Amino acid sequence: MTARILDGNALSQIVRAELAEKAAALKATQNIVPCLAVILVGEDPASAVYVRNKVAACEKAGFRSIKETYPPNVEPMVVLGKIAALNADPSVHGILVQLPLPKQFDAEAVLEAISPEKDVDGFHAENVGALMQGNPRFVPCTPCGVMKMLASENVPLKGAEAVIVGRSNIVGKPMAMLLLAESCTVTICHSRTKDLAFHTRRADILVAAVGQPKMITGDMIKPGATVIDVGINRTPEGKLCGDVDFETAKEVAGLITPVPGGVGPMTITMLLANTLESAERTLK
Ligand code: NDP
Repeated sequence: MTARILDGNALSQIVRAELAEKAAALKATQNIVPCLAVILVGEDPASAVYVRNKVAACEKAGFRSIKETYPPNVEPMVVLGKIAALNADPSVHGILVQLPLPKQFDAEAVLEAISPEKDVDGFHAENVGALMQGNPRFVPCTPCGVMKMLASENVPLKGAEAVIVGRSNIVGKPMAMLLLAESCTVTICHSRTKDLAFHTRRADILVAAVGQPKMITGDMIKPGATVIDVGINRTPEGKLCGDVDFETAKEVAGLITPVPGGVGPMTITMLLANTLESAERTLK
């Protein structure tokens, strides 16, 4: 059996076109242009690429973007001052700080400084709490994109066994909350899980968010399962790969996301969706 591919690039194109249309309508009828401010501190090359992609996606969808860059040794007060100014600017609808931050920063304090009403990454404690309570405002973009991918393929969720490998605040935990809200039976695995394969083999929906190249192999997958690979890793040859060993997994799974071209593009798409939603909320 060879799995069907869940193509994140194709789905992203469709969703981004819808978002661009909505943004154009908002501008035409209300003179509001959705605006995302992105703060980049330091010289991490991967972070620079992520920020560039986010800014480019904004422009392509007709959103405004503001990019604030700071050297690695900047005083945290300077960045916090900028966040306060962006919080107070009514033309800015979304603010994100690209992680990781240099050592002198208390990352949690920086995320908490962003107004929860503009926290389009969904990392502020108020938004995390809202998600936990089943009343979400901004949902973190990666798990939000995964839910959109599952919905696009009508993957049955009610009563499904969902196993998530990874328990980070930005992927694993919010992913669990979203699947739970759809009445999946959710298991979260992590580095201390005793028999990982025992859990993954039970999964109707398996989400890998670990950061270990190709660690989920075909023999760890239930035949016909939906496999979502969040991981972004580099092979020793410098090629991108996921946490799932695609070659063996695709022979067992029913539906599988590739890396690249799976979850990655959907993450930026949901950032745009959250920014548009924030802009629309200013009318309420
Ligand atoms: P973190 O490093 O924050 O979390 C990794 C998680 O994996 C931890 O919970 C850790 O467990 C668990 N883990 C580590 N080793 C094992 C193991 N051998 N067996 C089981 N669990 C293990 O990573 P993130 O959640 O931030 O990211 C995960 C991956 O997803 C990365 O490759 C990242 O690049 C990618 N990513 C991709 C995005 C996209 O848009 N596609 C967006 C965000 C991330 P423990 O808690 O016990 O340490």
